[in-house]
Amino acid sequence: MADFFQKVGEKAKELGGLAKEATRKSGELIEVTKLKYELSKLEKEMENNLAGLGALVFQKYKGAADVDGEIDRLCQSTARLEDEIRAVNQQIEKLQPKSLTCPECKVDLPPGGKFCSYCGIRVAKVD
Ligand SMILES: [Zn+2]
Repeated sequence: MADFFQKVGEKAKELGGLAKEATRKSGELIEVTKLKYELSKLEKEMENNLAGLGALVFQKYKGAADVDGEIDRLCQSTARLEDEIRAVNQQIEKLQPKSLTCPECKVDLPPGGKFCSYCGIRVAKVD
């Protein structure tokens, strides 16, 4: 299974390359790529916030008295991030043409492709 995910990861890099190619064809795709980049930044920030919160809560448990303000600040900032992430996801859903998933290997494929670039199976009608 780990091997599978590693392969998917490698494939994702390749698909990233393909996605770059595809963006030349569609302004919407450029927008989606930007939004996804934004999303990954927000998610990373969220992760950092939650880790920070965990550390602060533990400090409080151990008796630190001056962490409440910081906990509050981080909670507020995390709630804002959650809203932003939701909004970005909605924008992506609006822009994203139906994304394809290979029925064979379950890899997400860039929209517009006719064959899975992972296993080569046909995923859309060839016109
Ligand atoms: Zn496939």
